[in-house]
Amino acid sequence: SAKQNGRNGYQAFEPGMGRALRLRQELESDLGLAIERGEFELFLQPRVDLTDARISSYEALIRWRRGDIYVSPADFIPVAEASGLVVPIGEWVIREACRIAASQFEETAISVNVSPRQFLDPGFLSVIRQALAETGLRPERLELEITEGVLIDDDSRAIHILGEIKALGALVSLDDFGTGYSSLSYLTRFRFDTIKLDRSFVQATDETAWHVIRSVLGIAGGLRARVVAEGVETTQQLERLMVVGCTEIQGFLVAEPRPVRDVPRKLDHRTRAMILDRRPSREPV
Ligand code: C2E
Ligand code: MG
Ligand code: MG
Ligand code: MG
Repeated sequence: SAKQNGRNGYQAFEPGMGRALRLRQELESDLGLAIERGEFELFLQPRVDLTDARISSYEALIRWRRGDIYVSPADFIPVAEASGLVVPIGEWVIREACRIAASQFEETAISVNVSPRQFLDPGFLSVIRQALAETGLRPERLELEITEGVLIDDDSRAIHILGEIKALGALVSLDDFGTGYSSLSYLTRFRFDTIKLDRSFVQATDETAWHVIRSVLGIAGGLRARVVAEGVETTQQLERLMVVGCTEIQGFLVAEPRPVRDVPRKLDHRTRAMILDRRPSREPV
């Protein structure tokens, strides 16, 4: 390392690069111990139905308490994905989400994020089957969120796995739609129950983004898929989404992700009124 780099003539850059590598290795080895140390926790964020201002389901979002700080999944999921640790971590997430939904909520569904490597792992379907059997959660209360990434490389295998999930009775959603390799053709390759519009669209201020949102709503309507707008932060975004006919949202405006014990079972009065008062008025008959 240090000496090798020196011999290779990269000495000037070595200290910084060495530190970054060491931190990454530390992160990875701590990550490998985090399950048995009980350092993971699921936060829940409500998904809200705009037609009645009620919580339609919750998304489970993993948090890692490493020492006294929470590490964001945006920082450690990529490391877990690259190292393969995402497979056991993802298994923990599915079991824990099913346990929480079955024991703490009456009817509400829960959605779980699944990374590409976890999705393609040979044990993935049996993890779902086992978690459902273990907890007694009705399968239609579990939704698996995947991203377009899983549909790129081995399309037919991915479609097969998605079909097996549907056969179990669980739901499938396409997360972060509108980012990455996005193409409208992904929407027709598989009958997703839900399409989650990425927050970069919802938060965009240009008209083009709103044209795309309208098109996605139109296509989804034809496919009978629900559309959830992610990352709604302002009443202006809320209003626009209502005008174009979007009926479900997630975002800090209505509810942030919180530890299970702090998660609202119902929206508070103010938030409900904020939504209900903005519903587009009906045309007079
Ligand atoms: P995601 O699945 O698209 O989840 C939505 C992210 O947006 C969450 O970030 C959530 O806290 C955040 N968010 C919600 N409302 C708003 C808003 O109004 N504004 C903004 N700016 N952000 C909002 P989080 O919890 O940090 O998770 C980030 C990503 O990490 C997730 O994106 C998902 O891809 C991944 N992730 C989270 N939990 C898991 C997990 O259990 N397994 C896997 N494989 N990935 C996970
Ligand atoms: Mg998600
Ligand atoms: Mg998303
Ligand atoms: Mg995301």
